[in-house]
Amino acid sequence: MTKTHLPRFLRAGGRLMAQTRVNRLSRDGRGWLLRATRIRAGEVRIRAGTVFLCAGAVQTPALLRRSGLKQNIGDSLRLHPTVKVAAQFAEPVNAADMGVPVHQVKEFSPRLSFGCSISHPAYVALGLLDYPQALREAGRTWPHIANYYAMTAGGGHGTVRCLGPFRDPVVRYHLPEEDRRSLAEGLRKLTELLFEAGAVKVFPGTSRAGIVRSREEAWRLPEILPRGLANLMTIHLFSSCPMGEDPRRCATDSFGRVRGADHLFVNDASLLCTAPGVNPQGTILALARRNALHFLNRL
Ligand SMILES: Cc1cc2nc3c(=O)[nH]c(=O)nc-3n(C[C@H](O)[C@H](O)[C@H](O)COP(=O)(O)OP(=O)(O)OC[C@H]3O[C@@H](n4cnc5c(N)ncnc54)[C@H](O)[C@@H]3O)c2cc1C
Repeated sequence: MTKTHLPRFLRAGGRLMAQTRVNRLSRDGRGWLLRATRIRAGEVRIRAGTVFLCAGAVQTPALLRRSGLKQNIGDSLRLHPTVKVAAQFAEPVNAADMGVPVHQVKEFSPRLSFGCSISHPAYVALGLLDYPQALREAGRTWPHIANYYAMTAGGGHGTVRCLGPFRDPVVRYHLPEEDRRSLAEGLRKLTELLFEAGAVKVFPGTSRAGIVRSREEAWRLPEILPRGLANLMTIHLFSSCPMGEDPRRCATDSFGRVRGADHLFVNDASLLCTAPGVNPQGTILALARRNALHFLNRL
């Protein structure tokens, strides 16, 4: 963003207001009034003929709901549930400037994908929280340790709801048994893979799983992740304001226009109709571009 789209936006005459949080939208004649808070400047009001809302799959529905727009909004959140492991190797595999490795294993895709995730020393320590001895040694051993993930396409649904005066919304997600089974299978396959790649110890991110010390031991990992101990995370969220032509299910039309709210568009991950099972950013960018061009062509 900082190297490509933002400089282009600024060159084209756009104005960027950093550190500014929009709290609420309300009708202002034919357009919209945005009430925002800017760090050190306090309350800011912005008037706009047309608004494109791109605050992500959690904050977009939260902002709409806070503003009184609720039809099919925040009712159908989807995500890619993910389980992590830390793996220790005999040789160094990590470095302070490693970044995020981009390779993935897609053999079992879209149900399961594996990959390496961010492994700065602090993240290695986070991955070892359930293993006190390994955590104590992490200051010395981290160059031999990296974090990995197994991610599933996710068949569950969630909601985004605003609660009274609280700034951030409550996000709920129901993880079906089938997903807990897929994630357990992913955890076992990923552990096997890491031993094939030379790991000497694998630390599953699920609580109380215990250190795995060989490929054979991977088979004592659970067949289904236990409720409450699964210790999952996600970085891929979607579908909280799905687009489409069915007004019973969709928050916006097929190009992101919010139903029942003229001149107001959603244009981010919230629009995706389901969890795609692959890294989503390309799809999100392509849809955002398509919808922006559609809007411009109709002007
Ligand atoms: C650590 C991490 C790694 C990832 N790696 C990959 C990857 O390798 N490949 C891939 O395809 N995807 C990846 N993703 C997912 C990808 O980044 C997201 O799917 C994508 O950025 C979602 O785009 P978006 O426009 O919906 O929301 P975002 O990119 O989250 O943008 C929303 C913006 O709105 C701002 N905002 C929120 N609320 C408000 C408000 N009230 N007022 C003003 N501004 C607000 C936020 O600060 C943010 O800048 C990763 C995500 C994470 C977190």
